[in-house]
Amino acid sequence: MAQKFRIVIVGGGVAGLALATRLGNSVGRAGRAEITLVDKSFAHVWKPMLHCFAAGTAANENDRISFMSQASRHHFEFWPGEITAVDRSAKTLALAPIRDPANGELVVDARTLEYDALVLCIGSRANDFGTPGVAEHCMFIDNLVDANGFNDRFRMELLRAFANHQALDIAIVGGGATGTQLAAELHKALDIASLYSFGEKPPKLRITLLEAGPRILPAFPEAVSDAAVRQLEAIGVSVRTSAMVSGADENGFVLKDGSRVPATLRVWAAGVKAPDVTSHFGGLKLSRSGQLEVRPTLQVMEDDNVFAMGDCAFIAEKPVAPTAQAARQQAHHLARYLPQWMNGKPLPAFTFRNKGAVVALGDYNGWGTFPGGTVFGGGWLHGLSARMVHLMLYRQHQFELYGPVRGTISCLVDWLDVFVRPSVRLD
Ligand SMILES: Cc1cc2nc3c(=O)[nH]c(=O)nc-3n(C[C@H](O)[C@H](O)[C@H](O)COP(=O)(O)OP(=O)(O)OC[C@H]3O[C@@H](n4cnc5c(N)ncnc54)[C@H](O)[C@@H]3O)c2cc1C
Repeated sequence: MAQKFRIVIVGGGVAGLALATRLGNSVGRAGRAEITLVDKSFAHVWKPMLHCFAAGTAANENDRISFMSQASRHHFEFWPGEITAVDRSAKTLALAPIRDPANGELVVDARTLEYDALVLCIGSRANDFGTPGVAEHCMFIDNLVDANGFNDRFRMELLRAFANHQALDIAIVGGGATGTQLAAELHKALDIASLYSFGEKPPKLRITLLEAGPRILPAFPEAVSDAAVRQLEAIGVSVRTSAMVSGADENGFVLKDGSRVPATLRVWAAGVKAPDVTSHFGGLKLSRSGQLEVRPTLQVMEDDNVFAMGDCAFIAEKPVAPTAQAARQQAHHLARYLPQWMNGKPLPAFTFRNKGAVVALGDYNGWGTFPGGTVFGGGWLHGLSARMVHLMLYRQHQFELYGPVRGTISCLVDWLDVFVRPSVRLD
């Protein structure tokens, strides 16, 4: 029997899981291609929710999608594994050995997978730009492990602050969507936790948001940045713009002007760079942030059979910001055109369609922008419309992956859960 066309997708994030599911449902189901998804973890999470997992305001048991279960329902295969290299002449990729996290014992040897088409979508992480002390003394919110690790520390430090009648100082570097939303979400977590514990005197949270640029939320109109600062200050977050961090240690951050920002918990949520492994992908051209440079067709510069999309890709001719919106659109583009390309038809160029952006500051406020720059949200409804849109984007993603029936059941389960469990993680 002739070998089927093999498409290997590495990274089951916003872009990769949408692509694997759509291709599985089309060419996988029809038996025209063998689709394999590889990811270093076993479950998918919607990355724009990571700050909620870090604060404990979302229960990630309900929000994880198992790759194996998704694969079995949508006609693709899943292999757990971390990509370490690509050999483009042999059309193979190397996966690191898998070890038992509990004791380091070898579970699966290093492996090699063969491909006819390879799609790389391994996302990004925050960029500390080599700032001294950051790697050693700061926490990151780049994946579920980081977010859960932060939440463990956050709950312990809150308990310590409560027991010792002290305030808890947290400093967050990066006034983009991640840092700004995290600052508000941590306050929301304490507000909810105080309903269950801490008696009449909950610990005081002193959060400082540090941004090197002249304003926070630079991707939004200035009116939104100003309103967000007012909202954050109203809940007690201190916002410092034009504050360039020059170092970090176990006591806090040092700023370029020599001043210090003391903090028990230090979070680095600034900058974006691709995972370091992109430099082992057979000499593919990289951007300054290590992203794989691609043509408008999402093929890498040097190889027609290797594609990159989402945060780890850089469209040299017409760059787009690394967002979930762009990652999804790129996945939809490849899901639509790869099957034709397999039959020898040329690939059309990807065009990004900006549908606006939304930012939600916990339950306190939220704003959105339409493509023309019109702002909605804010006001006396506390940005309810924007917060609803923010939630709807997540539900849309869930429905895409689960389908309408399981998507609806998943929503109902989440809503019913509110009557059973506290709406913040307490254990
Ligand atoms: C806290 C936070 C809030 C955000 N809010 C928004 C928002 O409101 N709106 C918006 O549009 N965007 C938002 N973003 C950005 C958005 O999440 C990303 O742009 C989007 O997730 C990119 O999708 P992706 O598929 O490229 O990567 P990801 O979704 O990050 O997926 C990458 C996948 O690759 C896997 N992987 C990584 N390295 C390897 C390896 N070596 N081998 C195998 N697998 C690997 C990972 O496990 C992961 O599953 C936010 C990001 C964060 C961190």
